[in-house]
Amino acid sequence: GPRVTGKVVIITGANSVLGIGRASAHQFAQNGAKAVYICDYDDSNLEEHKREIETLYSSANVHTRQFDAADEKAISEVVKDALDRYGRLDVFFANAGILGPHTKFSDVEADEFMETMRVNALGPFLAAKYAAPAMQKTSAEKQKSSGSIIMTASVAGLRSNAGGTPYSASKAAVVSMAQTIAYQLVGTNIRVNALCPGLIETAMTAPVFDSARARGTEGKIGQLNPLRRGGHADEIARVALFLGSDESSYVNAQAWAVDGGLSSG
Ligand code: NAD
Repeated sequence: GPRVTGKVVIITGANSVLGIGRASAHQFAQNGAKAVYICDYDDSNLEEHKREIETLYSSANVHTRQFDAADEKAISEVVKDALDRYGRLDVFFANAGILGPHTKFSDVEADEFMETMRVNALGPFLAAKYAAPAMQKTSAEKQKSSGSIIMTASVAGLRSNAGGTPYSASKAAVVSMAQTIAYQLVGTNIRVNALCPGLIETAMTAPVFDSARARGTEGKIGQLNPLRRGGHADEIARVALFLGSDESSYVNAQAWAVDGGLSSG
């Protein structure tokens, strides 16, 4: 697979047991990252998680951070820490997200709408705001190597779907920001891409899978895409690894669906 040797990587939403961020932390550590910051507001077993990665992949330094991914001060501090400690930042994977209210749009409260936008859209915006200048500082010395900002959007941000309106709106905002920010980073060798997972079995979607299993309609989930199955977090994490590596050096300003074909149907 692609290598990310010597790279310094920050990942938010990285502490969910079956989640995309956690699987990505493993991928980056396994493939040569010098340091991986695993950040999440949920710090349960975060230290065990760090030890697990460091035991499996001894070349990686793992740093844990407990913060809200839309907290500007916390984002600026973790970026500064990477620069102070390692003199570089190569990858920021802004992955933390929440599902928000799944009710009909007319039943959504304004504060629920704003909270979904805050975490899902403001979070990745702040990540780019602080990561890009830090990457720019170091990219001169790194020459050929490029900075990579990856934002987790969703197929829900690409096309109409049955999910919540705030969620879809927030993910469409992520797609828009990845493209807009990539264009504003002209000449910097920093790439910005939105990663758009389809239906992946994680804590976030467990209720969907569980209720389908209970009703014996599990097979229906897969019928939504030509691969006829839901995806695994690791299948997203491997694409995140590729986008964070120099193997994807010409992939920029894209909204990349990784969904088994769901969004093309
Ligand atoms: P998950 O719930 O397993 O993981 C999300 C992680 O983000 C959790 O560890 C959670 O604690 C953390 N988090 C939530 N809000 C946070 C905040 N404000 N600050 C810091 N951390 C926060 O879900 P997942 O499926 O791994 O989701 C990861 C990303 O993928 C999300 O952005 C989600 O919207 C997106 N996504 C998931 C799917 C899917 O089918 N699972 C599909 C498309 C997009």
